[in-house]
Amino acid sequence: MVKTSLTARENTNEVLVGHVPIGAGNPIVVQSMTDTDTANVQDTVKQVKLLADAGSEIVRLTVNNNQAADSVYEIKSRLQDDDYDIPLVGDFHFIGHRLLQDYPLLIKSLDKLRINPGNIGKGLKHDKNFSTFIKIAKENDKIVRIGVNAGSLDQDILMKRMDTNSRLSMPLSSEEVENSSLIESALSSADYANSLGLPETKIIISCKVSRLTQMVPVYREISRQCKIPLHLGLTEAGMGQQGLVNTTASLSILLYEGIGDTIRASLTPDINGDRTKEIKLCQDVLQALGLRRFSPSVTACPGCGRTSSTFFRELASDIQSFLELKLPEWKNDYPGAEELKVAVMGCVVNGPGESKAAHVGISLPGSGEIPTAPVFIDGKKEILLKGTNMAAEFIEIIEKYVTNKWGNN
Ligand code: SF4
Repeated sequence: MVKTSLTARENTNEVLVGHVPIGAGNPIVVQSMTDTDTANVQDTVKQVKLLADAGSEIVRLTVNNNQAADSVYEIKSRLQDDDYDIPLVGDFHFIGHRLLQDYPLLIKSLDKLRINPGNIGKGLKHDKNFSTFIKIAKENDKIVRIGVNAGSLDQDILMKRMDTNSRLSMPLSSEEVENSSLIESALSSADYANSLGLPETKIIISCKVSRLTQMVPVYREISRQCKIPLHLGLTEAGMGQQGLVNTTASLSILLYEGIGDTIRASLTPDINGDRTKEIKLCQDVLQALGLRRFSPSVTACPGCGRTSSTFFRELASDIQSFLELKLPEWKNDYPGAEELKVAVMGCVVNGPGESKAAHVGISLPGSGEIPTAPVFIDGKKEILLKGTNMAAEFIEIIEKYVTNKWGNN
């Protein structure tokens, strides 16, 4: 039977990335990553601000060449000048050890470094590059994410495991061998970093794959084997509806089991698409699971033959838009208003029940019902709306409720 838990794992180490605590039962942290050329300071600063404003609590940027490495200090400085104290993570592949050595200001500007143990060389070269990277992190008191990825898995580990598996009387599937190789790569790298003097409380692990059916068993097993906080993400989740569903399903299964301390949704944006969608998705997943709250919610029924007109749908949509519009102002003026629950229901069948369960709910008249709409406040039927001005009046009731409930916080 699957063990479920609606809190983050409490028995993990606490890791502090900048001012953001990760693991040890702290709220699950939402991360994102820029897709600008890091060497383009202006565009990167602009996008980090956009992501931070949308609720990203940590932002990662690629550090893939000399120009990028040379730009990070300026990016961090400009962000600080504009009061954006968001932790930055450098995403390193192939040459991170060299860039960190060649650009001393780079490490000063980062809160966390991501290393991929699968693409920093083989054998002695791997060990030399890895230890150079870890020593720099240690000397500068930085966090390291050991970020293993199926697409760049350490081939030495995989080949050894494939070889051993082929000699078994009942060999495992190639996916099972790959899973155990991913886990070995992550855990042995964490042990190696630890042996080089980087404390376990400075390490985070991720094991990214692109299929839910692989991601879930990998993270279940790695979570069983270590106390290091885990960064979850389904890598290359895809575009549009497919990306949303794949990401939501995979994150939800693990988070529901209490696995995962920080998350990212790796969505491929549409051309000129909105990069902040990945943050909204993470927030929505955490909110749906009851792990965190970010914005007011609207309970609305799907409608059916009992909903007499499009008015019900229009009202649900207007209320949703109104709440989204007001949220930034409410967050500032009425802290706690993100807890607000509103119900917009289509008829008397489930309308009164769902409306009573919300802070403020309206049960609209269905076909053949008296054309009045009872409004419930904190479970009590308080007002009866009718006529053409119902939407505006309901919005006014919501605003008054928020002011009264969260105005004195
Ligand atoms: S609440 Fe009423 S209108 Fe809405 S789906 Fe249920 S029966 Fe249909």
